[in-house]
Formats: sequence, structure tokens, C-alpha cells
Amino acid sequence: MWGYVNLNFFIIFTTSQGVYPFSTRKCSETYLFHTYFKQTPCFFFLPQMYNTIFFLILIIPLSGYLLEQFLIHLNNKMWSDKLPEKLEGICPEEEYRKSQLYDRDNKKLSFWSSTFNLAIILLMIIAGGFSFVDDIARSFSLNLVIIALIFFIIIGFASEIINIPFSWYDTFVIEKKYGFNTMTGRTFVTDYFKSWLIALIIGMPVLGLLTWFYYRAGAGFWFYAWGLVTALSVFINFFYSELIVPLFNKQTPLPEGSLRDKIEEFADRAGFTLKNIYFIDGSRRSTKSNAYFSGFGKKKRIVLYDTLLKEFTEEEIVAILAHEIGHYKKKHVLVNLVLSVLVTGFMLFLFSLVVDNPKLSQALGAEESSFHLGLIVFGILYSPLSLIIGLITNIISRRNEFAADRFVKDNYDSRILGGALRKLSVKNLTNMMPHPLYVFFHYSHPPLLQRLERLE
Ligand SMILES: [Zn+2]
Repeated sequence: MWGYVNLNFFIIFTTSQGVYPFSTRKCSETYLFHTYFKQTPCFFFLPQMYNTIFFLILIIPLSGYLLEQFLIHLNNKMWSDKLPEKLEGICPEEEYRKSQLYDRDNKKLSFWSSTFNLAIILLMIIAGGFSFVDDIARSFSLNLVIIALIFFIIIGFASEIINIPFSWYDTFVIEKKYGFNTMTGRTFVTDYFKSWLIALIIGMPVLGLLTWFYYRAGAGFWFYAWGLVTALSVFINFFYSELIVPLFNKQTPLPEGSLRDKIEEFADRAGFTLKNIYFIDGSRRSTKSNAYFSGFGKKKRIVLYDTLLKEFTEEEIVAILAHEIGHYKKKHVLVNLVLSVLVTGFMLFLFSLVVDNPKLSQALGAEESSFHLGLIVFGILYSPLSLIIGLITNIISRRNEFAADRFVKDNYDSRILGGALRKLSVKNLTNMMPHPLYVFFHYSHPPLLQRLERLE
């Protein structure tokens, strides 16, 4: 043990302050170091900790953070004091200015939140925080599955708690300042409790089973895990509207009347059987409008925010729905689900290749390797690949958006859709002049101007 401590102390000094003349120190001083470490928990001074993976899991989050700051910097440079020529007739100057301020406020908050989160992650890795939590979890039980669950509950809960202030600031300062927030403090708190409850009810059994598969089936566990995750995502896709949404919102079938007639008439003409048209009380939380599509086959339903019903004409709402129907008719919903299942399988397979390597857990300062520590390290190592997969997904998604818009152009009215998209963007204070590289990395939908161009 002493050898370990000594060696590691040397490494810390050589890495953080250049080469420290450790070997020339007098014996008595070396002895002092020994007694000092004797009283300190040694979990973060294991020599095995400083392997290649240790440095990789420090470098990867840091590089991701720097890349993000660079993209934001590019985006900020796109703003101008005057309304850009391209936006004339599309966005009033006043709204343009407001969207700029809104974007700045959001970026500032996200800067502080990502800096804080990066600092926490790096600190947890360097100081052996994950291995410390692992020790706590191990003190409760000898069962490997229970240890993993306790570990994930502590890590998950802690990360939720430290991010609540950012979420609170976003809702009650920024969103309120721009007139979007309609949420009460009570809704904010109960939303958190409900989402934790869902995470416990769905997430814990799934994580428990995944861990159990690993300890039972060994390297082939990824295949069972894949089956489980796939079954779960198909289940959630089918029952999302019936099981999850009612916990947060009230859904009401769209009543008989001219809007429902117009929607049904369009659906008939497009050869789309549509029984479930609902509206949802989105105005309980925000004045922002939206519409979405969920489920498959007989379960498929279209959901409109009540804010949409208040502020858009019936023709505009039909155009927005026509876009959603376009996604369904062109099989985007199904293809997305299949793609995400394939990506999950690929990820689990990669995970199975490395999870047995003791270097993963060692990099976090733990002496004993485990599934949960392996998962944490893998999550970080995987993030560059996940970034690339995200880029590809976004490219596909942006193409699908154009295709759904084209469906509206061919089957309904492109001018009405253009008008509705413009209204939606202006009202939601969307950034209409994002940097192309920022769009390439982050946008699942093409920016408004590109969509309007294609609709002409
Ligand atoms: Zn769409």
C-alpha cells in the first residue's frame, strides 16, 4: 500500500506542477507524507487509476464542452443590431430584437449550467467521487444488483438536485421575463416528484434487470439487454399518451365543430384514418404552442396544444396537422423507432466489449470492478461516438422535415403552412439566424428561412 501512495503522490506532482524534486527531498519529509496519507482515505490514490482511460474520461468531457462553447460563439456572431434583409416581411424588428435577448439569456444560463456540470464531473473523476459512492452503496448490501441500484439512485438523485436551481431560474426568471411561463411553483415541484416517480417505477426495474443480465449471462448480456430496451421503447411508444401524459396534462378529445370537420376532411382526402384527435392543456406551463403525433396503428393520435387552438386559424391548424400526417404517411415515425433500436443495439454491443476490462473501474479509483462503474466510464467514452450518431440522426431528421413540408405542399397548401410556421417561430422567439455549423450539430428541424424557401 505504501508503495502505491508514494508512487501516486509523485504522479500528482509531476502532472500538476511539472517535475517536482521529490526524490531529492529529505527522508524526514518523505516520512511526513507517509503519515499524512495514512490518515487519509486512499481511494483516489491508487496507481492503477492513472491509466489511459483516466486521461480519456477527463479529456472527452472537456473537449465536448469547448466544442460547444465554440459553436455558441459562432452563433452569437450571427446576431445584428438591425433586422437582417432576409427577415424583412418575415419577422417584425421588435420581435427580432426580443428573440436576440431571449437567446442571450438562455445561452448565459446554459453556459453556467454546463460549466458547473463539467466541473462536477471532472472533480468526481479526479477526487474518486464515483468510487466513494460505490463504497457507500457496497456498505448497504452484498448483492451486486442492489449495490448497482443504490449507486444509480445516489448518482441520479444528486445530479437532479444540483440542476434544480438552473431549471428553476430558467422557468421563473427567463421564461417569465419573456412572458412564456404560466407555471406555478406548485406545478414545478409536483412535476419533479412525478418524473422521479416515473424514473423509479420504470428506470429501476430496467436498470436492475440489465445489471442482473450482466452478472448472469456474462458477455452475451448485451443481447438480452437489447431485447429488454427494445420492448420497453415500443411499449412506451404505444402507451405514452395513456400512461405518461395524463400524469402531467389533461387531454380532451377535440369537440365536434368546424375545426374537427376540416381535420377529418383533410385526413380522409389524404387516405389517413384518424380517430384520436385531442387537445392538451399546455397553457398550464407555457404560452408556447406545439403539436405532436404519437403511437402506431389504432393507437395513433394527434395532440394539439390549447395555445395553438387559441392563436391559430383553423386552416393553419390543419396545415400543421397535415405536416404531422406527412411524417406518418412517409413512415418517418416507424423508421425513427427502428433506427433508434439499431443504435441502442450497437451501443450495448460496444459496451459488452469493454465492460469486463478492470481498467474502466480502476480509472474511477475503485479497486473492485463493477457493472455500474463500467457504465459510467463507458458513457463518457461513448460520447464522441454518440455525437457523431447525433449528427447523422439530425441530418436524417432535417430531411424528414422537408419531406413532411413537401407533403403539405402536395396535398394541402404550402402558403398556409408557411404562414403558420412563421407565426410559430415569431411567437416562440426562435432564433431565425443560427450559424450553419450550429444548425449542423444541433438542429433536428431546418431553420425557418430554409423551410420557407423550399415551400415557395
Ligand atoms: Zn415535423
